[in-house]
Amino acid sequence: MELETIIGLEVHAQMNTKTKMFCACDNNAWEKAPNTTVCPVCMGHPGTLPVVNRAVLEKAVRSSKALKCTVNERSHFDRKNYFYPDLPAGYQISQYKFPLASNGIVKFSVTDPKTNATTQGECRILRLHIENDAGKLMHRANHSLCDYNRAGTPLMEIVTEPDLRSYKEASSFAEELRRILIAAGSSEADMYKGMMRFDASISLRPKGDTKLYPRVEIKNLNSFKALEKALQYQQKVLEKLWSEGKQPTGETTVGWIDDEERTVLLRDKESAADYRYFPEPDIPPLSIGAAFLAAVTQGMEQLPSEMRSAYIALGLTEAEAAMLVDEPQLRERFDAIQVAIQEPKRASSLVLTQLRGFLTEHGKSLADAPSPNQMVELARAISSGTINVNAGKDVLEKMVLTGKAPNVIIKEEGMGQVSDGTTLQKFIDEAIAANPKAIANFKEGKTAALGAIVGAVMKMSKGQADAKKVQELLLKTLTEGT
Ligand code: ZN
Ligand code: MN
Repeated sequence: MELETIIGLEVHAQMNTKTKMFCACDNNAWEKAPNTTVCPVCMGHPGTLPVVNRAVLEKAVRSSKALKCTVNERSHFDRKNYFYPDLPAGYQISQYKFPLASNGIVKFSVTDPKTNATTQGECRILRLHIENDAGKLMHRANHSLCDYNRAGTPLMEIVTEPDLRSYKEASSFAEELRRILIAAGSSEADMYKGMMRFDASISLRPKGDTKLYPRVEIKNLNSFKALEKALQYQQKVLEKLWSEGKQPTGETTVGWIDDEERTVLLRDKESAADYRYFPEPDIPPLSIGAAFLAAVTQGMEQLPSEMRSAYIALGLTEAEAAMLVDEPQLRERFDAIQVAIQEPKRASSLVLTQLRGFLTEHGKSLADAPSPNQMVELARAISSGTINVNAGKDVLEKMVLTGKAPNVIIKEEGMGQVSDGTTLQKFIDEAIAANPKAIANFKEGKTAALGAIVGAVMKMSKGQADAKKVQELLLKTLTEGT
């Protein structure tokens, strides 16, 4: 029997607001001492009241729009009750039946790992809601420690429809989602810092069947790699069960053990009833009007997929476009050069080939790259003929190494291209005198013989002569001479 894989994702993304979701505590706990960015509100003390951070709403609305969701005019918060030591209030303030936004769609490209062919995929978004994060537990030998710095950090929970058909589609979608959230300015989505976490649901069904069979939910996957590996693993487990006629009859929840590359059964899947949801009494319902929507989404950056198509339309390759979409620092420099000189090929060669190459070669990061203004100055110097392409490379390498502006380097090193007619003519006359054989060949109709003369001129000028102008002048000299 041929089986089809059905995958859906729930994604939690930490939002990059300055303060937490319901209090004024610092929302950036990275490398801060445990329990130092906390207050009675995010510690869930009785008698405190949550106040919704306006920036959370603004950023979540922008993200919803970027995911092509409908932002619901009315939504409200609910308490999701459960006990766990990292949850000081004993409940999470989330959204249940009335989420902030619903019904979106994400388009993404999938590259087949075997054939390298790229296809387009689509995944519908069921909902996006906002909720607060819990603290963090650290398990030591025989005890556990609690750090509440993360408690109260705003999260967006994004739930997809079960539209994904392979582990590769799942990770490609997740990567595109990450790009979208970064472009919407709502999350740094730094995987290394645990800012984006996935729960993946997987089930199989006989190909052609339209109903969904009970799923297995894999909890807390913290990287694209883990997402792929866990789905591949669980798919094999399910395939074996189906082949033995023992396919799942109920939903289960498993955890992924990264070191051992396997999942373990945690529990039968919890149902909504287990959480005793009820409307959060301390926060009034949200009402998002047209004016707020318009103000918040005004001037929104292009979506990654739109950016990608625009770069491809300029003549860049898929890979070049993807690099620009993924690296805002490269993109900023490319865009600045393109605006200034309107030569996409030169801009991509300077930024994507040469700049990246020199940074890697000299052990530097993108943060050390010459500023967009300096890159524009360099591009202009080449484009206007002040220096030739090869000298441009040397100048860029010196820019990376010294941090100096290109015009300063060109002046200091005397790298300016020689295009002054009198100087070039002098070189040409000397070269003609020194290469009588080449001249004789030329006069016999072998135009290629001129290469030797141009070469000699380039040598005399230490590579700085304007080659095009040398060609012109040389032809003129020889034709007028005969
Ligand atoms: Zn607080
Ligand atoms: Mn959640």
